[in-house]
Amino acid sequence: MRDLALLPKAHLHLHFTGSMRPATLAELAAEHGIRLPAALLEDDPLHVPADERGWFRFQRLYDAARACVRSEADMRRIVAEAAADDAAEGSGRLEIQVDPTSYAPFVGGLTPAIEIVLDAAREASVATGVDVGVVVAASRMRHPLEARTLARLAAHHAGDGPGQVVGFGLSNDERRGETSEFAPAFAIARRAGLASVPHGGELLGPAHVEDVVEHLRPDRLGHGVRSVEDPRVLGRVVDEGVALEVCPASNVSLGVYRSADEVPLAVLVEAGAQVALGADDPLLFRSRLLAQYELARDVHGFTDELLADLARSSIRASRASDDVRARLLAGVNDWLSA
Ligand SMILES: [Zn+2]
Repeated sequence: MRDLALLPKAHLHLHFTGSMRPATLAELAAEHGIRLPAALLEDDPLHVPADERGWFRFQRLYDAARACVRSEADMRRIVAEAAADDAAEGSGRLEIQVDPTSYAPFVGGLTPAIEIVLDAAREASVATGVDVGVVVAASRMRHPLEARTLARLAAHHAGDGPGQVVGFGLSNDERRGETSEFAPAFAIARRAGLASVPHGGELLGPAHVEDVVEHLRPDRLGHGVRSVEDPRVLGRVVDEGVALEVCPASNVSLGVYRSADEVPLAVLVEAGAQVALGADDPLLFRSRLLAQYELARDVHGFTDELLADLARSSIRASRASDDVRARLLAGVNDWLSA
């Protein structure tokens, strides 16, 4: 059996705070004198129902973790460790997603907050060999005008090299905010050449996927798994070449599916969707990138050829430079022929 940690892959769905190692969170909390909720220190993955109460619980824990990130050094450490952990799991390209809003007050504003993350991504790329790009994400919970401000900042740093902004996202509870109101922010990002990578079709079904596709014209959808509930919508996602960042462990933790075997991975792949597996928030779900590929193998019966195809999809759906993509794709062929 081939070693999945050696399979070159791209990691396209990983949130900044959610990427933190549990031990790092505990250290930062101690350093800043913050008492963490017990659930953040337990080894078990979070498990909540997919309703508003479940999301609220997830968000409350996430906010508690975020509150421990209070300095430039903390921010740099998170990026460095995320890249090191990705490197150990065979990722050659990481596109880490950050909403700089909550860190801005500690480092002198939004601009320094973004620039710290970008500089840390450049350093981490050199240190680990993982090419690290950044996705700037706005929140559905905040005013769409704030999303525009973030899009302008993101646009200013657009590029496909390490430590540049590759995409613009939209996260948080899909039930909140009016998708169409975020269209102007995405238009700003698109004009700068950034990929459109909003979340969609996770907590809500195919109608939400279509709403996001219509208004935000995504290159990739964060999750998008629930498009399987309407073959027409799934067909549209496939026909329009929208890649899906599928995060099986996250789906189970957040109650979207009861267990890993219910995540419709095979249905999506068989329908021709481009799937890139991601870990989303390993801090809360206690499951990193490699574990998602292991689930595909162990739970969904994916052969090594199919696992290689998943890795290729992730690399093709990334915004890495042509050189990096060609190198990683060649590595996938080497893995298969080994
Ligand atoms: Zn996410």
